[in-house]
Amino acid sequence: MIVLDFLGNLKRTHYCGVLRATDVGRDVVVMGWVHRRRDLGNLLFLDVRDRSGIVQVVFNKETHPEAHAKAEHVRSEYVVAVEGNVVKRERPNPEIATGEIELVASKLHILNNAKTPPFPIEEEINAAEETRLRYRYLDLRRPKPHQNLALRHKIVLEMRKAMDEMGFIEVETPMLTRSTPEGARDYLVPSRVHHGQFYALPQSPQIFKQILMIGGLDRYFQIVKCFRDEDLRADRQPEFTQLDLEMSFPRQEDIFRVIENVMVRVCAVAGIQTTVPFPHMLYKDAIRKYGSDKPDLRFGMELHEVTECFPAEARQKLQIEGNVFAMAAPGGASYSRKQLDELTEKAKSQGARGAYFVKVAAEGTTSTAEKLIGPENVKKLAAACGAKTGDLVVAVSAKQEIKGTEAAALAAGQLRLHLGEALGVIDKTQWKFLWLTGFPLFEWSENDRTWVSAQHPFTGIVDEDLEKLESAPWEVRSKGYDLVLNGYELGSGSIRIHRQDVQERLFKALGLTQEQLRKRFGFFLDALMYGTPPHGGIALGVDRIAMLLSGEKSIREVIAFGKTTAAQDLMAESPSEVDRDQLEQLGIQIKQR
Ligand code: ASP
Repeated sequence: MIVLDFLGNLKRTHYCGVLRATDVGRDVVVMGWVHRRRDLGNLLFLDVRDRSGIVQVVFNKETHPEAHAKAEHVRSEYVVAVEGNVVKRERPNPEIATGEIELVASKLHILNNAKTPPFPIEEEINAAEETRLRYRYLDLRRPKPHQNLALRHKIVLEMRKAMDEMGFIEVETPMLTRSTPEGARDYLVPSRVHHGQFYALPQSPQIFKQILMIGGLDRYFQIVKCFRDEDLRADRQPEFTQLDLEMSFPRQEDIFRVIENVMVRVCAVAGIQTTVPFPHMLYKDAIRKYGSDKPDLRFGMELHEVTECFPAEARQKLQIEGNVFAMAAPGGASYSRKQLDELTEKAKSQGARGAYFVKVAAEGTTSTAEKLIGPENVKKLAAACGAKTGDLVVAVSAKQEIKGTEAAALAAGQLRLHLGEALGVIDKTQWKFLWLTGFPLFEWSENDRTWVSAQHPFTGIVDEDLEKLESAPWEVRSKGYDLVLNGYELGSGSIRIHRQDVQERLFKALGLTQEQLRKRFGFFLDALMYGTPPHGGIALGVDRIAMLLSGEKSIREVIAFGKTTAAQDLMAESPSEVDRDQLEQLGIQIKQR
């Protein structure tokens, strides 16, 4: 049993990682965790680690027998304070920042012991993500999570500075509120005082920020948590953070300029240079050229509509409905039969009817579709995609045609991303921002078999399309826009509906009865009647920005305490059951499954 020391009045003089050759000769006090221990008999080495890095400490049995004896007791992750003198190392270690020096310990204070951690605290670890999340406090001791959280802090700080300098006021909006229609399920909080009634955690501050404009705030922003109960992926969490903003009397360009300014500054914080203004693309062009509403412009492989190359008879045989889209994948001609089958499966899982291939090889052009469409059309197909020797042309057809939707292009877009990655044609050093505009106001929901808002129901409607709201909803364009970076949607926003009559018409077009819309949005419709200025805004995903700028692939890496894809916090073990008493007070009974 070792006796632990008290910190008492001992004061740290330096962080471990900051000591350099210029400090040689100094008496210092460092504090931190034992990273590694090497016992060479008369000499015992401890690497001591804190947030800033690692310093090597040497305990000499002859010169400081007491400290040396004590050091024999410490193990990995013990918390220690070391008093010592900085000396030049005989053999410098160029691997670490403090590698030119070491600390000759005169005194060791053991401040706490530690169980053996379930994984070593190293830069690179191969522990399962579940283990890392369960022991997140240990995972957080590694340099990369530190760097990620520090970068995130700098990003958020820069956002606040930029917004402040542009005249925006940060206003907090309620967390205990009512449902906001962002298209996901709500997280509900039962009311103790009003049995049977619930608050909803905000899916976004959307309604409140619009009401702030009605309240004359003119320029609002907030770095805010939002909550959405939806199926999770690597770039989604049940709670996430947005840079949310709204401004009065804006033109679309005004909002774009604000965001471009913020993004340039935020990128600079991460050492990335960006040029503004960001390019624009129409939604329909993005779909037809890239098969995506968040096109990754770091590589080409654009889609081409090749419906013409599939004559009526072939279309019938292949049960093709709607347009056919194709692309040339550089170097893909070497793909095996098996790889092509996998591509077909992939396309089908994305809703395609089928995928057809043309290999443009030095020995000649071959195609899986030649029998059906004939050699002339095979040639046309390859030419339409600008295919070169060595390329694989991939054509994708759709199984059903939905008005206003290019199903084949969407499936082809997924193959484009897959092939781009597999063939290594994506230039990972690029930062390709893009504004996407000209969105349809509605999209078809296969689940509900009805038109639903493509964004949220407060999105403005292009003035001249207003008359088609009821008669041809699929043709109505919205005043919405998205910001895209390297194939990720960073955020979306719109110029809003600011007239009460239009807002009410839209709710009705979405199938809400007078009673439903009064019940859900009555307060907002009322507010709109008291002199609402034209207004618009946007919200950017802070976690995603931090993820991309820190080079991570999952937003969990830039969130201190993330949840699994099953929406669980493995460390705090939430969600969890609650006491019967608590349920009683809330008037809630749990149904057994
Ligand atoms: N509330 C929207 C969202 O969370 C953003 C906006 O329209 O400003 O996506």
